[in-house]
Amino acid sequence: MDITGLVDRLKNCPCGREHTVNIRAVEIGSGIRERAGEILVANGFPSKILVVADKNTIKASGNLPEILARDGFGFSLKLYDDLRTAHMTEVNNIIALLGGFDGVLSVGSGSLNDICRLAAFRADKAFAIFATAPSMDGFASDTAPITDNNFKVSYQARQPSVIMGDTEILAAAPAELKSAGFGDMIAKCIAIADWKLSHLITGEYYCENVANVTRTALNRVISLAGKVTQNDEETAGAIMEALVLTGIAMKFGQSSRPASGAEHVVSHFWEIKKLEQGIISDFHGKKVGVATVMINRLYKQVCRDADPSLFTEEKLDLDKIYSVYGKNFIDEVKGYNSPAVTTETSVAVIRKSWDEICRIMQEDLPSEEELLSLMRIAGAATTLPEIAVSGELGVSGLEYHPYMRHRMTLARLIPMLGVKADYRKAAGLTGE
Ligand SMILES: [Zn+2]
Ligand SMILES: [Zn+2]
Repeated sequence: MDITGLVDRLKNCPCGREHTVNIRAVEIGSGIRERAGEILVANGFPSKILVVADKNTIKASGNLPEILARDGFGFSLKLYDDLRTAHMTEVNNIIALLGGFDGVLSVGSGSLNDICRLAAFRADKAFAIFATAPSMDGFASDTAPITDNNFKVSYQARQPSVIMGDTEILAAAPAELKSAGFGDMIAKCIAIADWKLSHLITGEYYCENVANVTRTALNRVISLAGKVTQNDEETAGAIMEALVLTGIAMKFGQSSRPASGAEHVVSHFWEIKKLEQGIISDFHGKKVGVATVMINRLYKQVCRDADPSLFTEEKLDLDKIYSVYGKNFIDEVKGYNSPAVTTETSVAVIRKSWDEICRIMQEDLPSEEELLSLMRIAGAATTLPEIAVSGELGVSGLEYHPYMRHRMTLARLIPMLGVKADYRKAAGLTGE
């Protein structure tokens, strides 16, 4: 991937921000595994490293450890059984292990990368990723969503200096993981729409060029929907590139806005509520895909039914909101809502912007039919039962997720729109 070219194209961006990356190389291609050591050396990666993997990812990586040893790397392997959640305890464990090393190589995706990303940042060590599945978009990110006390918080972390993906390995990844990557990408249509909406009514920073980096990646993935589940190196490589690109867009925008909107927060809501019961959720991208279908429905209904003459000052039932979150999360939720993000706009501004808001939603969101058909051919989940989320949790996530962030989205505006949002219908539930 031509990182330098991408950065050059965004030089002197009219948005006024400098769009930079810390990534030195993204190498995605057939047989990259054989060249992993060489690529790391060429990009100045240290040779005394901690390799972090779990049993699935180390197996998928084939002979990567031998290749690193052959190429002169002195490393220890921290091997998990099956790491499905990124917990602060593990971040601290990795930091403790990093004492004698100069860098960390994460072999895998998702939670493994996230704990290494934060550990590398806090211990000030070099960080690289050898991806084993195109399952989510966090590869190039410089933030890490980490669970601490069952609440998920996004921490400033280290962007990897090198990202490697062997398309032979990526293509052979389980279809469920590849479809999850598709779910994480299709979510970007909501993310961009929410970002533009916030820019319009709160003046939050927005950059059209950065949004377009995400859009390009999204369109590429949409064009490959029918091949996602196949063992096809070209498709797996293109999806991996798209996932990396949206991570780069987040770094460019210095915000997760280019990659995550209301649908990501809904998914996080489901996740923390399940984790509170000791249940580990389904794959990130799989949940996010389902939430995308539901937010897409909700946004369309709201745009159709809202009447600007009924827009009103917000009168939140905070006691109800706090009781939905419960005692484990109440302090965090209070923090995010004092003051509420809606104080950054006004009824008059929303009323004046309403036509434009609906135009954004019309432009950036797919039709229900188009979205469902794309997701089905990509093997992505579209309903609550597929991600083991109950109807009740599904609906409360759609209604109450906005309060676990200080972030403007169309979902967060609903209490001011005087509209009866049909959360049950949006969640795909029918009847009473
Ligand atoms: Zn810009
Ligand atoms: Zn995501």
